[in-house]
Amino acid sequence: MDDAAIESRLAAAEAAFPAWSGREINERAVLLRRVAAGLRSAKRDLALTMTAEMGKLHREAIVEVEKSADACEYYAQHAAGYLADQPIATEASLSYVRYAPLGCVFAIMPWNFPVWQVFRFLAPGLMAGNVALLKHATNVPSCADAIAEVLAAAGIPEGVFGVLHIDNDQAADVIADPRVKAVTLTGSERAGRSVAGTAGKHLKKCVLELGGSDPFVVLDDAELDATVKIAVRSRFGNAGQTCIAAKRFIVTPGIADRFVQAFADAASKLIVGDPNDDASTLAPMARADLRDELHRQVQDSVAKGARVLLGGQPGQGETQYPATILDGVQPGMPAWDEELFGPVASVLRVADEAEAIRVANATRFGLGASVWTTDTARGERVARQIDAGACFVNSLVKSDVRLPFGGTKASGFGRELAEHGMHEFTNIQTIYVQ
Ligand code: NAP
Repeated sequence: MDDAAIESRLAAAEAAFPAWSGREINERAVLLRRVAAGLRSAKRDLALTMTAEMGKLHREAIVEVEKSADACEYYAQHAAGYLADQPIATEASLSYVRYAPLGCVFAIMPWNFPVWQVFRFLAPGLMAGNVALLKHATNVPSCADAIAEVLAAAGIPEGVFGVLHIDNDQAADVIADPRVKAVTLTGSERAGRSVAGTAGKHLKKCVLELGGSDPFVVLDDAELDATVKIAVRSRFGNAGQTCIAAKRFIVTPGIADRFVQAFADAASKLIVGDPNDDASTLAPMARADLRDELHRQVQDSVAKGARVLLGGQPGQGETQYPATILDGVQPGMPAWDEELFGPVASVLRVADEAEAIRVANATRFGLGASVWTTDTARGERVARQIDAGACFVNSLVKSDVRLPFGGTKASGFGRELAEHGMHEFTNIQTIYVQ
């Protein structure tokens, strides 16, 4: 987009804000429900667009559109409660907190969940009374346009949501623009440092949802079959290109060999193939450069002593990579130190529960984590010692519209979803009447 096109989107957002934020919340809810219905009726076409642009399995794409529709319905129903004035008793005759919208929020989003990531910020954001501009990842432009079409068809007024097809330098200018009040980024640590730097320079609030290297802690008393089933789903779903995928499998001696064997057996059954073919159970990666980078990380880890239990060699074409498991992963290897954003699992063998917790925390990242044990009290105790934005016991780590989502350390800051996420892009305003 040239400067004039960007200017027209910014001007439209600025013009739309007073009327949008001034509507009754119930009116915004009616429109959000229409967006949900529009997503459901367009889900097949949307899914085909996602698969064409970034290779997601068709059935995973359908689930993603449905989850996005669910989010619109959830916030249509619950936003009024989340945004209600909160009285706080003081010596004043009246004192309370209100949650006022900020204005235009600029969202920079990644390609891996090209519809869900957008609605994760957009559904609560629109209900809060904000308007939004989206810069989507360069490889999913049609997903961005398709989302805009669904919103427009549902009757969302012009300017309330706009798509910017721009590069990263232009994105910096948009962050700087006084009409943009805040920025939210979902993406890599590298992008996070850059976007947060620009936002900081211009004193704009930002929320960063960045990478992860989630530990999946398997304790001796874990139930093997259920644990393996979720291990495969968590690591290899979406071709492993998920921020909250389990990436480091930390195993204690009483179960390590049995778990690793069963995990490798189950993962070896995954079939990489055409994402539109129902027989495929592992999608290709989104881009050739991403596969090349993943393979470099695998080769470098192997050169430093990791053992390949499964896979480890690129598949057909430019983007296929098979389910891969590396055993004996140690500090100093990319498989330990870096995020592996593809279908490669790292096995880290530890002596006991205490070392499992230490190793789970021995990462720059802190997004999600899971603990597997038949003793749920033990699981909860371990979970509370892991420095991550979310820790699940005996369950797949997933985002849930009812629960806040976000990270610690290099996984970012701020939250999306739930009451906490909604309040991020509001002016938490104190009203005090003596
Ligand atoms: P990415 O390269 O950082 O791109 C994400 C978005 O940021 C894209 O729209 C990209 O635009 C933009 N971007 C990159 N550098 C930028 C800059 N300097 N200024 C402004 N915008 C910039 O990440 P990715 O490879 O697409 O996505 C994978 C990463 O996202 C992984 O690390 C993953 O863990 C993380 N992620 C995190 C979450 C979460 O919720 N925490 C969810 C999903 C993914 P271009 O495409 O134009 O470069």
